[in-house]
Amino acid sequence: MHHNTNTNTNTQTTMMNHYLKFEKYTVGVGDRFAHQAAAQLQACILAAQSGVAISPTWNKSNREHNIIGSEPASVRAAADAAVKAAGWAMPYYVDADHIGLQTVDRFLDASDFFTIDVADYIGKPAGPGAVEAFADRHPEWSGNLQLAGIDRRFDISRGEVERIAGKYLYAVQEAGKVYRHIVAAKGGTPFVTEISLDETDLPQTPPELLIILAAIADEEIPIQTIAPKFTGRFNKGVDYVGDVAQFEREFNEDLCVIAHAIQRYGLPDTLKLSVHSGSDKFSIYPAMHRALAKHGCGVHLKTAGTTWLEEVIGLAEHGGEGLQLAKEIYAEALAHIDELCAPYATVIDIHRAKLPTAAEVNAWTSELYVRALRHNQSDPLFNANLRQLLHVGFKVAAKLGPRYLQALCAYEASVAKNVTANLYERHLKPIFLGRC
Ligand SMILES: [Zn+2]
Repeated sequence: MHHNTNTNTNTQTTMMNHYLKFEKYTVGVGDRFAHQAAAQLQACILAAQSGVAISPTWNKSNREHNIIGSEPASVRAAADAAVKAAGWAMPYYVDADHIGLQTVDRFLDASDFFTIDVADYIGKPAGPGAVEAFADRHPEWSGNLQLAGIDRRFDISRGEVERIAGKYLYAVQEAGKVYRHIVAAKGGTPFVTEISLDETDLPQTPPELLIILAAIADEEIPIQTIAPKFTGRFNKGVDYVGDVAQFEREFNEDLCVIAHAIQRYGLPDTLKLSVHSGSDKFSIYPAMHRALAKHGCGVHLKTAGTTWLEEVIGLAEHGGEGLQLAKEIYAEALAHIDELCAPYATVIDIHRAKLPTAAEVNAWTSELYVRALRHNQSDPLFNANLRQLLHVGFKVAAKLGPRYLQALCAYEASVAKNVTANLYERHLKPIFLGRC
């Protein structure tokens, strides 16, 4: 191990100028139709009443805005209104989720959190000599690398450093370009920077994460959250599929890597993992809670479309016209299944034979619809295929336009109750409070 820190002082002072401090525990909530911010905030209020401060971060990607036809300003307006109405005094954030140089500009005014997505740049070659120069600059890994808190040693040769840098250096350089573009455009207004690498094929190992973080420090990006791709499948709206024990080991190792990178490379001491859960990774939540408690670390849990599904559940549960609308949404989603699934092909696994027909669903009571959709895996009527289809089916509701939004208002009590309970009981409690 080397403890040479002479390259870091300047980096640190430059970086300190440009970041908004991100809280230790944060939850990223998606609110596709910008009607549930108050109900989502209520879940954080319940957590605060239980003694755990969790800052809400409203996230919506460019892709979601395009599918729905909304603008980032609507996310900011909904967040500000909810915070004001509730008298929420703790920090909150608005995340420009999965942006790049081509898509960031429309988010600049509304957002104070930017998720720079460079997954598409993984594997692209950096400039001539860049990988060699990077490896020259970082002799500290060569040989047996041992990090505090990790039992096993990583055998990282110079060749391995070059292989990893060859895979990720260009992507990190791209992140630097986007970061500096935001700094210039924001004109000194501080913000939170996340870098996401999760939408790619292969997970990043702990040594890869370490080398990526060193490259990020070299780019002088004051990163506060990093979203690696973890082992296992993180499909949309359903539980984790993979080896939970392996996930837990790597998650713990990633926490140790981050602690080391903060010390060694002068990254912000608020740096933490961002878990892009795709929502509802219930089987790894206890492992995450154990690891956070063990290491005293924070985490950013970024959920996706859970709230939209709770809206549909709330409509169905209300019955009457609400249920009727929920049935129409299902029928339309089923009729347009190919189109709806295409943008999400790599993160859904729908067994079409197990989807009920529109006629079957039309005959359902409120209870049958709610039990098929609500994510209760011990319920024999729960249907993960229907859930995934509706998860990606929000375009159907967007097409309904005012009719859908009016229903959200008309049946607000039923919808809000489900949004709050889902977020608090199924997500915040198991991860942050350690209670299931
Ligand atoms: Zn993501």
